[in-house]
Amino acid sequence: MYVGRFAPTTSGPLHLGSLLAAVASYLDARAHDGHWLLRLDDIDEPRTSANAEKIALTTLEVHGLEWDGVIGRQTDHQDRYWDAIAQLRKENLVFYCTCSRRKLRDTATYPGYCRTRREKPSDPASIRVRVPNRNIAFEDRIQGSVESNLAVSEGDFIVMRKEAIAAYPLAVIVDDDITGVTDVVRGADLLENTLAQIFLIDTLGLAMPRYAHIPVLNQRNEIKLSKRDRAFSIDNRVPLLNLVSALHMLGLDPSIEHHDVHTLLQWAIEQWDVRNVPKKVAITDFISI
Ligand code: GLU
Ligand code: ZN
Repeated sequence: MYVGRFAPTTSGPLHLGSLLAAVASYLDARAHDGHWLLRLDDIDEPRTSANAEKIALTTLEVHGLEWDGVIGRQTDHQDRYWDAIAQLRKENLVFYCTCSRRKLRDTATYPGYCRTRREKPSDPASIRVRVPNRNIAFEDRIQGSVESNLAVSEGDFIVMRKEAIAAYPLAVIVDDDITGVTDVVRGADLLENTLAQIFLIDTLGLAMPRYAHIPVLNQRNEIKLSKRDRAFSIDNRVPLLNLVSALHMLGLDPSIEHHDVHTLLQWAIEQWDVRNVPKKVAITDFISI
């Protein structure tokens, strides 16, 4: 049984790029007769807001993107994140890190300063996982083969932040495992992070989902689409237009007149083929309406 999901971070309203991810994951799930779950990535509580959450749900609703079952929340899974850390600790794969941002300022790859620190220090410390010095690879349904050596590209990465908030790569794989997600469809800004996730999934012995990373929307000057960027905010009064432009970017050609979002989505489900999605990590030449 196909289980897909859309997992927006609720620190602001959805932007056009997140709508694209929502539509792509929705269509892929429905085209496979699968479930489409909604999870609110609300673990970073200081940054999330109830109002942003409400707006995000309204956006999905007016665009006809109906999810299955109850809404999931990362804040419900705290215990499971700590269980995962305990499992990693048993295998001697985690250590406490007290390095300041300043200390790591000049290095993209964590140099391993705290690798031997097994006891919890009195100062607030993050928890990092040791990564192996070998290539990790996966086959993305859109982007093709992706491969990298985490020891070279990133180094030992943070799984628990010093504020005791699970870091994204750990949280996401635990969340997806709890809800039985078989297929992850999301923005290609997370393509590289997927290697860290795959490493954790393998190490914890969880089931490996399939991945499909759609292009993210960038402005011509390559500034990453940000939730704060008003140019990409979604106008909920014109859902049909928003959907038509999203479908174009996903490689469909919705030229037929559709009178409402439901018939348009139904048409798109029938047409959907992940192979039509542009095989690139960013789209710069899009028209925002
Ligand atoms: N919550 C993450 C974001 O909005 C995406 C998580 C995911 O799809 O894995 O960027
Ligand atoms: Zn350190």
